[in-house]
Amino acid sequence: MPDDLILRVAVPAPLRQTLDYLPPPDATPAAAAGMRVLVPLGKRRVMGVVVEVVSGSALSGGKLKHAIAFPDPEPLLPPDILDLCLFAARYYHAMPGEAVVNTLPTALRSLPKAVIRTPRQWCATPESGALPASALSRSPRLAAALAFLREQGTASDAACRLAGIQPAHLRSLQARGLAFSEPFVEPVDKSAVGFETPPAPPRPSPAQEAALQALSGTSGGFCCSLLEGVTGSGKTEVYLRLIEGVLAEGKQALVLVPEIGLTPQTRQRFVQRFGSKVGVLHSGLGDRERERTWRQAATGQLRVLIGTRSALFTPMPDLGVIVVDEEHDSSFKQQEGFRYSARDLAVYRARQRNIPVLLGSATPSTESLANCRSGRFRHLELPERAGGASAPSTRMLDIRGQTLDGGLCAEAIDAIGSQLGAGNQVLVFLNRRGWAPVLSCSDCGWMADCHHCDARLTLHRARNLLWCHHCDTRMPAPASCPGCHSARLLALGAGTERTEHTLQRHFPSFPVRRIDRGTMQGIAAMDRLYEDTVSGEPCILVGTQMLAKGHHFPAVTLAVIVDLDGGLFSADYRAAERTGQLLVQVGGRAGRAERPGEVIVQTLHPKHPWMERLLQGGYRAFIDPILAERESRGLPPFGHMAVLRVESPSERSATELLDSLKRQLRKSFPDLELTGPVPAQMARRAGRYRIQLLLRDARRAPLHAALEQACRLLDAHRFSAQERWQVDVDPLEGG
Ligand code: ADP
Ligand code: ZN
Ligand code: ZN
Repeated sequence: MPDDLILRVAVPAPLRQTLDYLPPPDATPAAAAGMRVLVPLGKRRVMGVVVEVVSGSALSGGKLKHAIAFPDPEPLLPPDILDLCLFAARYYHAMPGEAVVNTLPTALRSLPKAVIRTPRQWCATPESGALPASALSRSPRLAAALAFLREQGTASDAACRLAGIQPAHLRSLQARGLAFSEPFVEPVDKSAVGFETPPAPPRPSPAQEAALQALSGTSGGFCCSLLEGVTGSGKTEVYLRLIEGVLAEGKQALVLVPEIGLTPQTRQRFVQRFGSKVGVLHSGLGDRERERTWRQAATGQLRVLIGTRSALFTPMPDLGVIVVDEEHDSSFKQQEGFRYSARDLAVYRARQRNIPVLLGSATPSTESLANCRSGRFRHLELPERAGGASAPSTRMLDIRGQTLDGGLCAEAIDAIGSQLGAGNQVLVFLNRRGWAPVLSCSDCGWMADCHHCDARLTLHRARNLLWCHHCDTRMPAPASCPGCHSARLLALGAGTERTEHTLQRHFPSFPVRRIDRGTMQGIAAMDRLYEDTVSGEPCILVGTQMLAKGHHFPAVTLAVIVDLDGGLFSADYRAAERTGQLLVQVGGRAGRAERPGEVIVQTLHPKHPWMERLLQGGYRAFIDPILAERESRGLPPFGHMAVLRVESPSERSATELLDSLKRQLRKSFPDLELTGPVPAQMARRAGRYRIQLLLRDARRAPLHAALEQACRLLDAHRFSAQERWQVDVDPLEGG
């Protein structure tokens, strides 16, 4: 290898640049972009990724350190993934380490451990079938081991061990030509497949047929389509058919779903259709499983990969289509660190690979609708619920002046009772965990506030805790008022815990199941809930957002929305869009099969114009005026926006820093619209003031140039250990 080669390495450290290293002293294999490389960084050794190999000058070479080793014989990241990560780092003004290294599965980011034995599986050879019964009569253990393998077909190391078979016996069978071993292949998730034979796929409806026709016209080239259709209209069926076609051409498919949209039903439908070709990347996987699935997709062994946000960065050599389900969902945007949008990057990746991308939703985002209007996306629609199910009817319940019990008014409780009586299931949605959002003293007016945030502590009664949902501060709930020692403490308002309790009191003979982050940890809990519920016995599901996404509970006929009002008066320009989407999504859970559904919305503002439009004209009538308003105000998706946020224990120093930044940006970019510095939506969180500067421009280029300058200035600023700053491009919140 020539001496003057230099490796540009992305390292997992808060650095805006790549670092230069000389190749490892014994540089075998040859250096190439996309390789993992172990490098010294200060006193540590870290796993980086080679972004570029360049010939350096003798001058810089003298001071450079050598990398330590390449752990793999060849690049782990193919050029397209490296390019995607580097594009994302530039676009989101992220650190290369965040975009290139931290998007790898954890197991691939850690330092190499002692040799990891890859698990194997064992099978009996065909010849073993011809073995006379007496042949192994003198070694009963070998005979038993062989009988076990013949019975099992294939058995993993672990299964053999469990059956009491020692490795030596297996090796002995192998030596006699009676058994062989091969690398272990994960069996298909049996729990997801179910035991019945899968139902035959339904015949596509005319609308599905038309959508598929339009999509097949694009096969091969880049094209972006939006598939709009209410929940239950058969979007997933369209994805499945589309993917079938792509697989038949020998290509792979990538399906992105929201954080909690990876439901047992979704997995089951894909596995039923495509069997062991399907891999799933979800948060419930261990590091090793995640690495295995990632590698299987990268070698082409898996043909369909379903996963949440970060699955986008998985290498897939034969990628032929990308599907983004529930594309409006905010979980596609990472909210900390590397603040990328997996939906938007999916479009980049599709263009890069010159393949089609399909975004689906019952409530498309304003971004995607604007892209349809401008002709960048094609708009495909599924106008009706599949299989003849009718749409739910929605009714506003005016709760002004009413006494609420666990957040529910009497009429809502009656409606729940009559549905249960008729043998149906009911879903109750409220976006607040815990027992009550406010604990207050009725004598002196004291309220339980978080000392670190501009927020109240939530009372969790079962655990007897006051808990800040923003900074995670927890403390025992007091028995008397800390201010005046009065025992008359009042829990005001309702969260899921209290509503669950109230419903259980009213309907003691029906199960009430609570679904929130407190009760649903991990994918297994969700699977159990689904199994309990899908049986169809009457029950009540009480829950937060988690209930609103992707779940199909066919026996639910009534959805009660306890409170949507918070979203109606938010300062955030996106609040309307989010609130409408939530209402439609929750409503979409009701009445999916033969039974018609009903949605009840409790509100203090029954005549709010958004609500009226939504109820009378549906999502489109609701969202069109919102788009028009955004356009007239130059707000996204019609203009471009970014937020620079400084967090500091001192409100003044954060504000002053952003003020001076604003002055400098104003000089260089006189046309850029700068708002602030202003406090973020929660002005103080975890002991730090959060101050932000909003940048807006009709064009992307000047906005990005300004961000580049701002990041340079902020990088050069000396922050104290308690301070931090962030840049958020295309933010989901921000004013
Ligand atoms: P979405 O993804 O829009 O919510 P799905 O594809 O899950 O809709 O379809 C909803 C239900 O209707 C599913 O049970 C599905 O099997 C069924 N379905 C979909 N397409 C058809 C069709 N063409 N004929 C009959 N049933 C269908
Ligand atoms: Zn008091
Ligand atoms: Zn707090």
